[in-house]
Amino acid sequence: MTSNPTRLGAIRNIEANEAPAAFFDADEKTGAIYGENVFSLSVMQKRLPKSVFKSVFATIQNGEKLDPAVADIVASAMKDWAMERGVTHYAHVFYPLTGLTAEKHDSFMEPVGDGTAVWEFSGKTLVQGEPDASSFPNGGIRATFEARGYTGWDVQSPAYILENPNGNTLCIPTIFVSMTGEALDHKTPLLRSQNAMSEQAKRVLALFGHEDIDNVVSYCGPEQEYFLVDTAFVNSRPDLLNAGRTLFGAKPPKGQEFDDHYFGAIPERVLGFMHDTERALFKLGVPAKTRHNEVAPGQFEIAPVFERANLASDHQQLIMSTFKSIAKTHGFQCLFHEKPFAGVNGSGKHVNFSFGNDNQGNFLNPGDNPHDNAQFLVFCAAVIRAVHLYGGLLRLSIASAGNDHRLGANEAPPAIISIFLGDQLQDVFEQIAKGGATSSKQKGVLSVGVDTLPDLTKDAGDRNRTSPMAFTGNRFEFRAAGSNQTVAAPMVVINTIMAEALDYLATELEAAVATGTEFNDAVQAVLAKVVEQHGAVVFNGNGYSEEWHAEAEQRGLKNLRTTVDALPEYQTPEAKKLFSTYGVFSEAELDSRFEVGVEQYVMTINVEANLTEEIARTTILPAAVRYQTELATNVASLKAAGVEADTTDLLTVTDLVTTLRSSIAALVAAQAGAGEHHGLEEAAYYRDAVLPAMLAVREAADALEAVVADDLWSLPTYQEMLFIR
Ligand code: ADP
Ligand code: MG
Repeated sequence: MTSNPTRLGAIRNIEANEAPAAFFDADEKTGAIYGENVFSLSVMQKRLPKSVFKSVFATIQNGEKLDPAVADIVASAMKDWAMERGVTHYAHVFYPLTGLTAEKHDSFMEPVGDGTAVWEFSGKTLVQGEPDASSFPNGGIRATFEARGYTGWDVQSPAYILENPNGNTLCIPTIFVSMTGEALDHKTPLLRSQNAMSEQAKRVLALFGHEDIDNVVSYCGPEQEYFLVDTAFVNSRPDLLNAGRTLFGAKPPKGQEFDDHYFGAIPERVLGFMHDTERALFKLGVPAKTRHNEVAPGQFEIAPVFERANLASDHQQLIMSTFKSIAKTHGFQCLFHEKPFAGVNGSGKHVNFSFGNDNQGNFLNPGDNPHDNAQFLVFCAAVIRAVHLYGGLLRLSIASAGNDHRLGANEAPPAIISIFLGDQLQDVFEQIAKGGATSSKQKGVLSVGVDTLPDLTKDAGDRNRTSPMAFTGNRFEFRAAGSNQTVAAPMVVINTIMAEALDYLATELEAAVATGTEFNDAVQAVLAKVVEQHGAVVFNGNGYSEEWHAEAEQRGLKNLRTTVDALPEYQTPEAKKLFSTYGVFSEAELDSRFEVGVEQYVMTINVEANLTEEIARTTILPAAVRYQTELATNVASLKAAGVEADTTDLLTVTDLVTTLRSSIAALVAAQAGAGEHHGLEEAAYYRDAVLPAMLAVREAADALEAVVADDLWSLPTYQEMLFIR
């Protein structure tokens, strides 16, 4: 154990850690609390007059416009329900382009003239709010003199109560738009893209003879990876505290080589955290279902059951904020950064998605015989076309300075967006290309060689962990998203590019049928055409391999390695046409998102560079110099005593100290040079000049960590942060 007082103090602190008084009540009936804090459909059904409920239900289920007359009645019922549960304030919750969740709290209290007050909540305040939100990023959409932003109730995402020791709050999920109606958030385009996709999907469904077609929605099931690190360590790491990732740290002697953490037993202390978060999430109606260890030490995963994308996205944000706050009560920091530790697997967020509705089911469900399931094949072909034509936009939707550390680093899919179909579907589409599919490879039976065990069925398609977009049985899994990101951004792109592809397919099929082609022949023809034109995006091999990079280039697939390469995708003529055709983003909105993207990239790296300089100068250099002095003193006294002195260590440390000093100076100079660049060019400068300068400082510092006396080293080490809890 270290004898450095800072680190030792942290470790002693952890040893003394006691679990918080159980949030978890052993007597509680499993499931009893589920949805307790949600103003759900069933609560509404009980509390609203029949006609009002019917009207709200039509909006939620079928996306019909909300009747303003019902808002007052809903608001009043909502307020009564909330006040019975100790709520005093309500908050419009929105999702600005920072990727975080924002809330503006107001009291139900309304003063009356005679010095008393009433508690009121009108339909108008439920439906619309005006936060003073001028400091949220808007990419030039709102000049400060017209900095108004409005929030608007999203009826499709239920209101809920957030419990807090200092008072409960009624939270109302909202969109956030400018005075001129431009989207300043992630929810507005998600709802727009949802409508666009639904409209086109319905055309396809009509061709397949469906009647009474409900609104089509996208479903999303996000798997979330995260790290838990003890607060005592994090508090001694300004980099983790302020940048969410370590900017220094030598590789631990034992890393994740043994894969012994993956799916291993969950440590007791972590299990306590998981119990508490799940209980809090259950109350909020968030269907947290799966939990396990992840590959890296200290890394875990949570996956809720999939829901409508709009709801899944709001719930995803709630999961992240709940995890952060409950982690604190357990003495942990929950890290959602994509790469908190260099050399250790980072964290992603797998976005599982499909399309369907309650009436017509899941359109990505192949059934037992996909070759015979023409409707499934059409939806699947739509995904193939969409991903081939707009892979760059998918890449863009998950671009961030943090995620750049993962993509293509042999732990996450490459920045090249391709599709993995698996054996069975690959085979069906190959048959289609040759003139028609007549058979499907079938599920096998796994013989495990143990008589008492039932046979296990083997899926018809294997899994592929290296593909960014993999078909996994009844859905696709977009695996390139970063752990810190909102799922709304990729879902906006997925919905929109699906709208385009379904539009294309419906138009082709409608035209063929109109000229007398038999429907099945028309389907075969259009599927074959999609395979021919877009088959290049299908890749079943190893996405991590060098050969794939070369081959992908030959196939004409984009390889947008960094955020800076991806950002211009907002502004291509194709993107502008796509998003405006389907009413998802105007040109001005795309421009603003581009600007926000550039700004956030630059800001992130600039903060990291400042921290790198500060920590190197004020923590690492002093430790190194002290040690250097100690060694020099030792050499001098040995010489004075007439003993031969070994100067090897002194020279090594001296070299490293010199390198550290000069690399700090070089970093400062690099940062100073940024001022000459603007816009995307500035972002490119940060990537090409500042990031490498930071890395050079880190290299010298990490080398020092390996030689400086441990008692002088006050930054908690990788070993400690990853393994002690
Ligand atoms: P994995 O084997 O990929 O780790 P998990 O079961 O952990 O799978 O997570 C899969 C995620 O996919 C869950 O959130 C699950 O609800 C979601 N999912 C399952 N079916 C669908 C579907 N049809 N559409 C969207 N998401 C789905
Ligand atoms: Mg998965």
